[in-house]
Amino acid sequence: MSDLFWLTKTGMHELAHLHFADADASYEDARYAVFGVPYDGTTSFRPGTRFGPRAIREVSFNFESYDPATKIDFSEVPITDLGDLAVSRLPEDLVGQVADVAGDIVRDNKVPVILGGEHTATVGAVRAVRPDVYIVCDAHLDLRDELDGTPYSHGCVTRRVLEAVEDVVVIGARSGDREQFEIAAERTHLYTADTVRERGIGAVLREVREHVAGRRIYLSIDADAIDCCLTPGLGTPEPFGMTPLDIREVVRALAPYAVGFDYVEVAPFDSGQTAAVAAQMVREFIARHWVAGR
Ligand code: MN
Ligand code: MN
Repeated sequence: MSDLFWLTKTGMHELAHLHFADADASYEDARYAVFGVPYDGTTSFRPGTRFGPRAIREVSFNFESYDPATKIDFSEVPITDLGDLAVSRLPEDLVGQVADVAGDIVRDNKVPVILGGEHTATVGAVRAVRPDVYIVCDAHLDLRDELDGTPYSHGCVTRRVLEAVEDVVVIGARSGDREQFEIAAERTHLYTADTVRERGIGAVLREVREHVAGRRIYLSIDADAIDCCLTPGLGTPEPFGMTPLDIREVVRALAPYAVGFDYVEVAPFDSGQTAAVAAQMVREFIARHWVAGR
């Protein structure tokens, strides 16, 4: 685990904003291990997701530690924050780093919770976690075989995941070229943003949950799944998307089956709303997973 700063072990609690709120457990005691991946090395449009993990952690201190919906207090949940990965420049190396750290966390019987950073990190996490089903909310299909000369671009994430996981569900997509939509139709269960709007997120999630049938899932939320008019702190903004409430329904419904979670692609150059939603979804994930497992 030498790639990580062990902030939780330094005892320097005055650096409160450098860890996620209430993530005060020791690594040994923790059920949830948060780490940041401040990487935006393959960004194709607007850079800045490297600042996402810090913004998510900072705003996490804005919220009460009590969650009235689940009646849990996060201070009573064993969460640790390992800090940020000291990221490599090359995306293939970054994927390997994330796989190493997430693999250690999973072997220690904990749930990895990743703060991004661009979506590339997810490829490493999925390789480590090896879920039965990969479920992603994303404006983009991310099904390119290669982008800007690398197969590990943020635009290739779902394509790489398909090499490790056969069962892939995509929710909220509305962007991709013709080839990607053909691949999506053939090899994924695709619920476009329009489908979510027409059928409602509740109906979509009932179907997804039936499909999952209690199997182990990895849940990845690309922040741009949400309409950029609502959360504009994004590297690749797309309008006509899902709402924060839709995403909360996804997390609430699917967290109980998850063995890994990430919230990625937060480029926090807005009024703070994109990071605020991200921090709340991290809390929502942990709360729903914890309550389901008790
Ligand atoms: Mn993505
Ligand atoms: Mn995206």
